[in-house]
Amino acid sequence: MKERVIIATRNAHKVEEIQAILSDYEVCDLSAVKDPPEVEETGVTFVENATLKAVAISKLTDALVLSDDSGLEVDVLNGEPGVYSSRYAGEDGNDKLNNEKLLRELEGRDERAARFRCVIVMARGGEALASFSGAIEGRILEGRRGEGGFGYDPLFAPLGHEESFAELGEEVKNSMSHRARALEGVVEWLSSVS
Ligand code: IMP
Repeated sequence: MKERVIIATRNAHKVEEIQAILSDYEVCDLSAVKDPPEVEETGVTFVENATLKAVAISKLTDALVLSDDSGLEVDVLNGEPGVYSSRYAGEDGNDKLNNEKLLRELEGRDERAARFRCVIVMARGGEALASFSGAIEGRILEGRRGEGGFGYDPLFAPLGHEESFAELGEEVKNSMSHRARALEGVVEWLSSVS
């Protein structure tokens, strides 16, 4: 029987993308867990934060828990915003302010290489069992383009494309994204434990 997997995030966009890619599995959001705590992301790496979230939630359920920590690394900003991507402009999860801050930081700069990175940790019963990572190279556009996606999607054009992730749409994004690449490892791992 296929395992039930609970995604340890309050980000509905991440849940949607993960559910679309893991369509062969019973993938639930955090509503499957009673009173899930707000897990503070005190780590300084993606894997630390993903582990904190996966382990904390997996103490509250018998199911497998999947946690995703991800962000944008901009070369000319020495890898910023990195693990601080969701609170780059101060307020957690304010995509508009985060986008505006990034555009200000890169104003007048030609060097705009960047990548999205995603680390996924699987846990059960308070123990981290495996971790997987994925990245996608690209560049930061001069302004926001497109309405789809979330976070920095309107500003990020993957290598080989002129359009942003927000313009390319869900299907194209899910065929190549950092999250999709990390999930390839998860699918293989799930088939070995199911
Ligand atoms: P986390 O919830 O701490 O992992 O923060 C992830 C943050 O990184 C999001 O709030 C976005 O700002 C950014 N991010 C991660 N993945 C994506 C993506 O697929 N598209 C756009 N932004 C992303």
